[in-house]
Amino acid sequence: MRNLPSVDEILNDPDVIELGADFARTIIVGKVREVLTNKRLEIMKKDKAFTREEMKAQVAVEVVRKMNELSDGSLRRVINATGVVLHTNLGRAVMSPQAVEHMANLAGGYSNLEFDLDKGTRGSRYSHVESLLTSLIGCEAALVVNNNAAAVLLALNTLAAGQEVIVSRGQLVEIGGSFRIPEIMKLSGCRLVEVGTTNKTHLRDYEEAITENTGLLLSVHTSNYRILGFTHEVGLDELVQLGRKRDIPVMHDLGSGSMLDLSPWGLDPEPTVQQSIASGLQIVTFSGDKLLGGPQAGIIAGRKEHIEQMKKNQLLRALRVDKLTIAALEASMISYMANDPAETLPVLSMITRTPAQLKEAAEKLADLIKQENGRGALIPEVKVVETKDTVGGGAYPLQELPGYAVEIVTPRDPEIVSARLRSLKPAVVARIQDDTLLLSVRTLLPGDDRVLAGLIHQSLEGTSI
Ligand SMILES: *Cc1c(COP(=O)(O)O)cnc(C)c1O
Repeated sequence: MRNLPSVDEILNDPDVIELGADFARTIIVGKVREVLTNKRLEIMKKDKAFTREEMKAQVAVEVVRKMNELSDGSLRRVINATGVVLHTNLGRAVMSPQAVEHMANLAGGYSNLEFDLDKGTRGSRYSHVESLLTSLIGCEAALVVNNNAAAVLLALNTLAAGQEVIVSRGQLVEIGGSFRIPEIMKLSGCRLVEVGTTNKTHLRDYEEAITENTGLLLSVHTSNYRILGFTHEVGLDELVQLGRKRDIPVMHDLGSGSMLDLSPWGLDPEPTVQQSIASGLQIVTFSGDKLLGGPQAGIIAGRKEHIEQMKKNQLLRALRVDKLTIAALEASMISYMANDPAETLPVLSMITRTPAQLKEAAEKLADLIKQENGRGALIPEVKVVETKDTVGGGAYPLQELPGYAVEIVTPRDPEIVSARLRSLKPAVVARIQDDTLLLSVRTLLPGDDRVLAGLIHQSLEGTSI
């Protein structure tokens, strides 16, 4: 411990002095203190002796490493070779080039975010995408908030705070560990009334549960699971009829709200946002960055009187979206106005890629890896294999998408290679299956294949067979 260098000694190390050219002194001093504290703890634990010079060098190197790490930022690009299109841990939906461009144009300058350019007076941020949404969905009004959890919270709080909300027991979903219908219900100030059973809920269950305190009938799309076998849920149409008869609004939390029917591409039919609205219900909520293929956002669509009430709710201020989200959503919705969103929106183009296209892409990736192969590092086996991809993001939980991957039998433990791939820039996230590395091509973006081939070799450098 006596040999532990002082803060000043470390600050006088030539490499640490050099940091001064790029970073503020207070931050460097803070980092030096942090590293010295860690070193002290390490010495106490290990009971190992170091000379003062050794220790000075170790601490200085660590300070330089940590400062560089800090200034690089921790958020970085990842090549997704998992074949999971809406990968929750990898940022969910990839946005379209149009959305990215629109955001970039608006981010670095001023905009009419809350300014009415016609009148020269104050405008509303909520006005921008609303008419696009109402035209596409066929509803009276729409409102965009931070995410779908916020959309459900705001809608429940506005429509039924202090009242009872009836939900089927088969629909009390949990999404990603942090969104649970019973918890959101509590937060919104509503009282949850569960009806039916896990596998069967009938219209009479809702009917019998209605009291003078009932504020809302809620249907939740079980987007991330299915109850199979001896089951029954009440359809939206029936629920809407019941709501009409008893004068109670009906809300549908659709979650992975799709605006495009994906059944022509072989996917199971899922309710679209338009169908949900067409059933005559009052409010539907869904995510902007699941099947919709836009930015993280929650979209509330439906009757004008209810949406107007939500716009007046103080909660909205806390849940509101920023200009970049509005810009990205606007550009994404414009893609739906044109005829082929499946071509412009990456999420939809990935889901709808045909096996033939995927096979071709996998063959190209395998070739690129083999070309790199000739240059140095050796990979014993690279081959194109069939694989099963998934939509992810809690959508289509039971459906597998037939895809293609490049299978690599690595000379060393695939877990080690996989960890190395994750440490590169860009990082690569791949699958491991039967002791081989599997690179699914469905989720690769244009140009990723060439970069990926190089990174595969980088990850194997220094390995012998
Ligand atoms: C995904 C989902 C949510 C939560 O949406 P976020 O945009 O992640 O906040 C809520 N309800 C359902 C049914 C969902 O599928």
